[in-house]
Amino acid sequence: MTFTNAHTHLELGWLAALCPHAPGRDFLPWWFDLEERRRKMSAMACFVETKFRQAAEAGIEALLAAGVTHIADLSASGSSIYPLNESGLQGMIFIEVTGQYAEQADRALAMARYVIDEARPKLHSGLQLGLALHAPYNVHPTLWKKGVTYAREAELPVCVHVAESRAEYDWMTTNTGPLADFYRETGIPLSSPGMSPVAYLEERGVLDLKPLLVHGVHVDESDVQRIAASGSRVVHCPRSNMRLHCERMPLELYLKHGVKVYLGTESLASSPSLDVSEEAQAAIDLHDGYVDAETILGLASQPLSGG
Ligand SMILES: [Zn+2]
Repeated sequence: MTFTNAHTHLELGWLAALCPHAPGRDFLPWWFDLEERRRKMSAMACFVETKFRQAAEAGIEALLAAGVTHIADLSASGSSIYPLNESGLQGMIFIEVTGQYAEQADRALAMARYVIDEARPKLHSGLQLGLALHAPYNVHPTLWKKGVTYAREAELPVCVHVAESRAEYDWMTTNTGPLADFYRETGIPLSSPGMSPVAYLEERGVLDLKPLLVHGVHVDESDVQRIAASGSRVVHCPRSNMRLHCERMPLELYLKHGVKVYLGTESLASSPSLDVSEEAQAAIDLHDGYVDAETILGLASQPLSGG
């Protein structure tokens, strides 16, 4: 039997205290806090391997205990690769890159390339490596361009977080809200494209790669049609969305247009567990009156493979 958790960041398991169950936290302060902790940890290189690897191993134990057979994990450090390979779980591990400045693009991709080239030949046949270009709010246009080229040339599946928070949507569409204020105050050179997050991914050529899109909460019907036409797939993480005050994803709209939707728990930094049964139950409660329970339970039993 197939049981899929289509979105985890196993290496972030040590950040479980970042987002309390109630009242949760707004997305943006949570993200700032997460990035700060990651920066501090990365600066202490001697702890990274142990901390991330222990978190990945604990996460794998939790996944296996929950009966999961397929995963899509994101890892900025690569720490989850070998523990996942040894676990027998199937699916994909996306090496995650970010860079808000054009000058960061080459270095970010060189690191990803190194990890991927080193590990790719060693994985069992049911596990695949890919590239995660993290999200429109922390990937510079130069990194989108070079990242898309690299993924295409190396035939890597791609994963992107998109349309997750209201802050992301307001910045991208109208250059308003807290994220727009943050860029103005810090001078980070990311400009509002004046279009929806999904339309932006289409313009950047990302949708041509049929990426695994995570969240897709702030979308209208034309965005969903773009996703459907491209053959991209979407991962729904309702518990993380609720904890981070990101609102309800219009699951019924995706299903209406025939988009393949998976369930994922997100990381323990914004989710109470890695148990996809609990995620399904949260989705059933959240979409009551929009999508029936049987359909939602079926989302978790689809196998996961490259694009
Ligand atoms: Zn995520």
